[in-house]
Parts: sequence; C-alpha cells; structure tokens
Amino acid sequence: MIEFPPTDAGFTLDDYASFAHLTSAVDELRQEARTLVPPIRDRTVWMVNSTARGGGVAEMLPKVVALSNELGLSMRWAVIGTDRAEFFELTKRIHNLIHGVGTPKLSRADVDLYEAVNAHNAEEFLEHLRPNDLVVLHDPQPLAMAQVLKKHRDVKVVWRCHIGLDEHTPATRAAWTFLQPYAAACDYAVFSAPEYIPDYLAGSSTIIHPALDPQSHKNRELSPHKLTGVLCNAALKAERHPVLTPPFPEPARRLNSERKFVEANTDGEIGLLYRPIVTQVSRWDRLKGFAPLLEAFVRIKRRSEERRPADERHRRRLEIVRLVLAGPDPSTIQDDPEGLEVLDELCRAYAKLPRALQEHIAVLVLPMASRKQNALMVNALQRCSTVVVQNSIREGFGLTATEAMWKGLAVVGTSACGLRTQIRDGIDGLLVQDPNDPDEVATKVETLLHDPQMRDVVGRSAQRRVHGEFLIFRQIQGWLRVIARCAGTSVRSLG
Ligand code: UDP
Repeated sequence: MIEFPPTDAGFTLDDYASFAHLTSAVDELRQEARTLVPPIRDRTVWMVNSTARGGGVAEMLPKVVALSNELGLSMRWAVIGTDRAEFFELTKRIHNLIHGVGTPKLSRADVDLYEAVNAHNAEEFLEHLRPNDLVVLHDPQPLAMAQVLKKHRDVKVVWRCHIGLDEHTPATRAAWTFLQPYAAACDYAVFSAPEYIPDYLAGSSTIIHPALDPQSHKNRELSPHKLTGVLCNAALKAERHPVLTPPFPEPARRLNSERKFVEANTDGEIGLLYRPIVTQVSRWDRLKGFAPLLEAFVRIKRRSEERRPADERHRRRLEIVRLVLAGPDPSTIQDDPEGLEVLDELCRAYAKLPRALQEHIAVLVLPMASRKQNALMVNALQRCSTVVVQNSIREGFGLTATEAMWKGLAVVGTSACGLRTQIRDGIDGLLVQDPNDPDEVATKVETLLHDPQMRDVVGRSAQRRVHGEFLIFRQIQGWLRVIARCAGTSVRSLG
C-alpha cells in the first residue's frame, strides 16, 4: 500500500529569510542550490517512509519536501503500508535490536515476511517511478524495496537510517546482519552520526544530522504575552489577569503528594516566570536518566542547606530553584508499558521525599491530543528554564537538547553519542560523564546555576552551533549534496 500525503504549505524560504537571524542560512542554501539543482532538476526524488504521522521523521519530511520543491527540485513523499500487522512488529523488533535491545534472533520466516511486504510495495511503487529517478528509503521498514526497484528500473536508491548505537552488541550485530543484503543493494547510505555506520557500509555512507524547524510551534520565539498565555492556557500558571486565548481543552497535570496527577496549578504555582528553573522534557524512558536527575536535584538542595554558600545571591538561588520533569501524558502512551513503569518509579521516588522538597519538584504530564498545544507547552517550559538538562544514558541525537540550545539556554547533557555530537563540553554547555552519578549531575547543574556569565556564554555558543549545523536549511543542503553525488557517475555501488 502506498500513500502520498500532502506536504507542508506553511513557511516559504522567503518567509524564513525575512527573519534577520535566518537570512544568512537561507541565502547559503539558495546559493548551493543554484549549482546543485540544475543538473538534477529533471529527475524526481522520492522520500519513502512508513508513517505519515508521529515521530520526528514524519514531522520533518513534509517540510523538507516543500522547501526542496521551492528550490526547483522535484521531490515527492510516499508512505508505505501493509495490512499485515506482524510486519510492523518485526520492524519494531529490528529497530530495538539496532538500539541493542531484544533477543538477537531473526528467523527465515522473518526474512520471508520482510521481503514479501516490501516486494508488494515496490511493485505498486514502480507504477510511479520513472527511469533516472532517485529513491530515498527511510529507516529499515522500506529498505528491502531497494532490490526490486533496481531490478525493474534504472534508478538510484539511497538508504537513510535515522537510528543507531555507538557500541556493538549481539543484538546490534543480529540486526545489521539481517539488513546487510538489502543495504548492499543501495547506491549510498546516510546516517545521523559516524558511530552508527555498520562496517560494511563504511566508505559508501555520509552523515546528515537531524535538524529543527526554527519557526515550528516548538521553536519559534514567543512574545512575553504569548508565553504567559500558553502557561495560563495549559494551567502551568494561575490566570490572574484576563488572557487572549481560552484554556486548552486538556491542561498540563502535576504529580501531587498523594501520587495523583492533578491540574498543574491545583496546589499553587510552580513559579515558572519567577524562580530559577531546571528542566528536563523527554519521553518517560529509563535511558533518559530522569531518576538520577531527580536525586541530583535533591542533593543540590541538601548540599546548599548543609553548606550555606557564602554568596548571598547564590544562597537565595538555591533556596528558590525548582526542578521540572516533563513528559507525555501516560494516557497517550498506553501502548508503551515501559514508559508507564518509568513514570511510576519516578512517582514512587517523589512520594518518598519530604513535603518541603516535593514543593520544589514538578513532575508534569503534558497532553498530546493537540500536537500544536503540546509543542507550545514544551516551547514555553524550555524558555522559562535557567538550565535545561538532558541526562540521557543513551541518546540517538536528542532533539530536546537541540531545541534548548536553539533558544540560547544553558544545557547540561551527557557523553551519550547524540548529545556529545551536539554539545562541545565547556563550549556549548556542560557534559556529564556518568549520568547515573547524581553527584556529578548535581555538580554540573550547580556550576551553571551559580554562574550567569557562563550560562550566557555557553547559551550563545549553543545557539550559534544549532544555527550552523542543526537547522532544516543545513539538512536540505545535505540532501542536495547526496542527491547530486548519486546522480553523478562517481558513486561506487555496493551491490
Ligand atoms: N517531546 C514532546 N512532548 C513531550 C516530550 C517530548 O513534544 O511531552 C518532544 C521533544 O520536544 C523532542 C522529541 O519529543 O522534540 C523527542 O526527541 P528526542 O530526539 O529528544 O528523543 P526521542 O524521544 O526521539 O528518543
């Protein structure tokens, strides 16, 4: 089954360029397109993935397609599907194995299922494909279409793999062995970090980093009125004055001392607009390191009571600072039992804390029913933060860190692959070596809390880094180069 979802009709390149801080990035992209696009103008570039909604890939693809078309490239988006639910169970297993999780066993029956669904989709897709077109297959789901497409049409096929792990385990080896024949049928491959490239694709792959859209609801600037409005609408701040927009149908909810999630303002405000705030926004995943971050914050508070810092301002800061741990509402993650388990563990750790400390910690669940409202809440929470933490034990990339860096915030990350790719330790933020060590996490967070000048310097550098490397314009530039390279004759086939 193939679908052709609509692509984005939002911001044009001229719209982006009209923002002073984006002009140069758009100019650079246009300039590169002037040389790269004309020779490839006649062929269609197909972006093929397996979902039209949900997840970072589906979020960015329509934007990439729309802006590439504006640059004169003929790019289209196709989404594959199947009625066979077991296909997506298999590809989910492969996804987890690439991340080192699961039993490292894939059977002959798995091969047959994977090839059958992909062959079926490839045959349907061939009706739309012309000689000379270029097909980009995203992630493992559609990868086995490559052989069939190349057998019937003179086309180039690129594999774009968005996932990876920077270590080899029996699980990762099983997945990469399974995928090898299909990846070998492709002309080229694209990964998010060099550490993720399997040995057999070394030399025939390149890197395109994930990127963000600076004008999306999650990243656009929010005026003071808009920011306050979002906080009030989401019940993250009490509405003391009339605000323009009505309350969101579903508010953010906060954990209370009885281990229940209630409308976030019920027991008083968090103080997002007034207090120093330390924030982590993530999925409720054990590898995101929420539990050691909670413990680190408790230690910051306890240390400050024991040591009473001599600096009056800093003492006050530590007295009133609050921690915000935010993630998706559990009612939207029913199909993610691990997420519920992790949130439950966090709730239990919270319940054990003395009341006075609980007041300083806001465990928030954010409704996901409206993507726009969820994005605005994440945006507002990040913008209210003094320090944003991403204490991941493992991280493929970590867009939450990119989002905070783009907002010029001081970020504490970890040495997990995706985070160290973005944050240069001491330059664009601070990196924790061991995210499971609450003392180290506490020290890094407190270092930034203590030093407004350092926060400014690393925050500015972080914003410049995202501007230079991790905006959507740079990502499209990466695609233009890959497409131009594959359209040329210099590409070494892996087959
Ligand atoms: N996110 C969100 N609402 C939440 C929690 C997370 O919108 O309640 C977003 C977050 O802002 C980021 C994405 O989900 O854009 C997570 O991407 P990331 O690369 O950080 O981690 P992943 O979840 O893919 O492991």
